[in-house]
Amino acid sequence: MFAWMREELDRAGETLSRVIGALGEAGADGDGLSGAQARQVLERAGRVRRLADALVVEVTARLAETAGTREVTGMVASVTGTSAGEAERLVSLAGGLARLGPARDALAEGRVSVAQAAVIAETTAAVDDAGGGAGTAVVVETRLVRTAETQGLGVLRREATEARAVVEDPAARARRQRTARSLRCWTDVDGMVAGWFRLPPEGGAEIRAILEDRTRRIYRAAPAGAREPIERYAADALVDLVRAGTDAEREAGVRRDGPSRSSDASTATRATRAGKVAPGIRPVVHIVVDHAALVRGATSDGERCEIPGVGPVDPTWVRQLLGDAFLTLMIRKGRDIRTVAHVGRRVPAELHSALVASGRECDVAGCARASYLELDHCEIDHARGGPTSYQNLTWLCWEHHQRKTRGQARLGPPDPQTGKRPLLPRGAVGRAPPG
Ligand SMILES: [Zn+2]
Repeated sequence: MFAWMREELDRAGETLSRVIGALGEAGADGDGLSGAQARQVLERAGRVRRLADALVVEVTARLAETAGTREVTGMVASVTGTSAGEAERLVSLAGGLARLGPARDALAEGRVSVAQAAVIAETTAAVDDAGGGAGTAVVVETRLVRTAETQGLGVLRREATEARAVVEDPAARARRQRTARSLRCWTDVDGMVAGWFRLPPEGGAEIRAILEDRTRRIYRAAPAGAREPIERYAADALVDLVRAGTDAEREAGVRRDGPSRSSDASTATRATRAGKVAPGIRPVVHIVVDHAALVRGATSDGERCEIPGVGPVDPTWVRQLLGDAFLTLMIRKGRDIRTVAHVGRRVPAELHSALVASGRECDVAGCARASYLELDHCEIDHARGGPTSYQNLTWLCWEHHQRKTRGQARLGPPDPQTGKRPLLPRGAVGRAPPG
């Protein structure tokens, strides 16, 4: 069997080399592929790549039976030419293969990628370990495979989070997530300081809201014609916030020790500059919780206790927070927000909260951005008399919102399955009737 396998793989490699060579020659002859043809080639290449990755995972599982994890990870990284992190993911997925059913088949047939299979494997194992039972785990696994085949990684991750939340005890989840918190910094190949962090949703959502709020302010303060990508301003916001925190601490220290000891002029200047960008308003974190869950301090079947756009949180933590000024709490038993409408452009707080609770992701088909979202009058523009109502408002990421408000694109009708809307070039068919 080994000799046959080696020959087949050598042949597959030669086939790929021939295709790559032909593509290069066709380009040089001016006899290249049309856009549609290139897309078809790309789709097939994607499948071949997923299959090759699946083969690496399967063979890694065999390798792990004879060698230690560290050794195997090193081998996978050097043979595939990937980073240590990517190799770790492959090896970890290989270790969980034996527990998988439909996801293993989907991986072997090139229907899902390694990244998708890794999410499914982790979720299925967690559901199983949380006492959901093997039957529940298979149901979850089958559903996630279907999602992976039809939706992007963003949707898959969200469904995976929900599936775990259903079976896992919120207090146990909070404890587990607390031990999983982490922050690392390193110097990258360009000599820049890079970092990675992971925070439990309870505190993480607040940090994210503060960071996003500061980023938006810096973005808006920049001259409109010369704005940089928002990620750069987010980096500036992080620097500002950490410095402002240090300055505040130092000032508190000065006050404690008496003013005579230090009058640091540069600190004062920096504090003023930081203060000009953000006058210290606490951003709002929204939590959606069922009344019964809040009273009980725990969720049961079908009840929600979550931060929209982030994920489920511990109801006991919400109870502790009640009364804190930065928290707005929407109790799902409250009045039906769909009836609230407003004539001005300003979105009333009640309506804003309902829109936050309805899910926070860009409404454009194929876009899964959940940060820097802005509300858009989706059906009828505000300038053309469109009401500020639940039905006429939707979330768009800052980039898509800009393209729409600049008049470069418009939203098509929502897809009946996903509810998302295509972003069409201005003047394309499917135009909303005027008025
Ligand atoms: Zn978007």
